[in-house]
Amino acid sequence: MGKIVRTLSEDGSVLCSAIDSTDMVRELQRLHESTPVVTAALGRMVTAGSIMGAMLKSDGDTLTLRVNGGGPAGTLMVVADNWGNVKCCAGEHQVQLPLRADGGLDVNGCVGGDGFLTVVKDMGLKEPYVGQIPLVSGNIAEDITAYYSISEQIPTVCALGIVFNDDATVKAAGGYMVQLVPPVVDKAVDVIERNLTSMESITAMLEKGMQPEEYAMMALEGLGAEVLDSWEAVYHCDCSRERTERVLISMGREEIEKLAKEQEKTEVCCHFCNKKYEFSTEDMLNLLK
Ligand SMILES: [Zn+2]
Repeated sequence: MGKIVRTLSEDGSVLCSAIDSTDMVRELQRLHESTPVVTAALGRMVTAGSIMGAMLKSDGDTLTLRVNGGGPAGTLMVVADNWGNVKCCAGEHQVQLPLRADGGLDVNGCVGGDGFLTVVKDMGLKEPYVGQIPLVSGNIAEDITAYYSISEQIPTVCALGIVFNDDATVKAAGGYMVQLVPPVVDKAVDVIERNLTSMESITAMLEKGMQPEEYAMMALEGLGAEVLDSWEAVYHCDCSRERTERVLISMGREEIEKLAKEQEKTEVCCHFCNKKYEFSTEDMLNLLK
């Protein structure tokens, strides 16, 4: 079970959302059979996406985070609900890249840095909110920090980490996002800057087994912070046969007739969980009604 914890400074001017996303990342690795470098890239995406989704107000709201950097992993996408439950996929899950000179996984190389980060918030209105920025580095955390600063004008610091065991299974995953709530209080900014500089990297903290409430409190140390709320979030795909039918119907009459004629059965595979839905010629023709 993943866990989201939010802490708020005493004066309400700084919010820190922290997450233990270990189980989410293990689940995406299992479902997509992804290589470590793709697991790390998607892992950062779900960790951030879950925190961002949890900022949505109402049940039924969804947030889609898409990164299209031109790297071998193709487009990376995560969809989160307002509780921070997530599902994700990449264009290519089996990317193999040499390790970086420092021995780390080449996530930037896998994602690519030439493209866009897009955030779509569907809040049940006529038009969804869409924000987009050119990628800063393809490292995801830096790109999200830039997104909030440029697109939403919310000063934000984002840290995301995935730690692996020697056998390439996921040991721990997590992250945090510190955001200034307007009006910005200069004194709080100074304290936060000091805290974040003195804190260890998120991967070092995860290696030690630190929990989200611990790093969420450390980030706001000296600001009289308290835990605002905390709850569990998971990797969850909400696909169903009914939804798949709707997708097929949206392709239009001609395309359905063509598929029904060309093949005995049409197989539709969910990108987020790899579940397969089969439609016979008869099923397909029934959709036309
Ligand atoms: Zn699915």
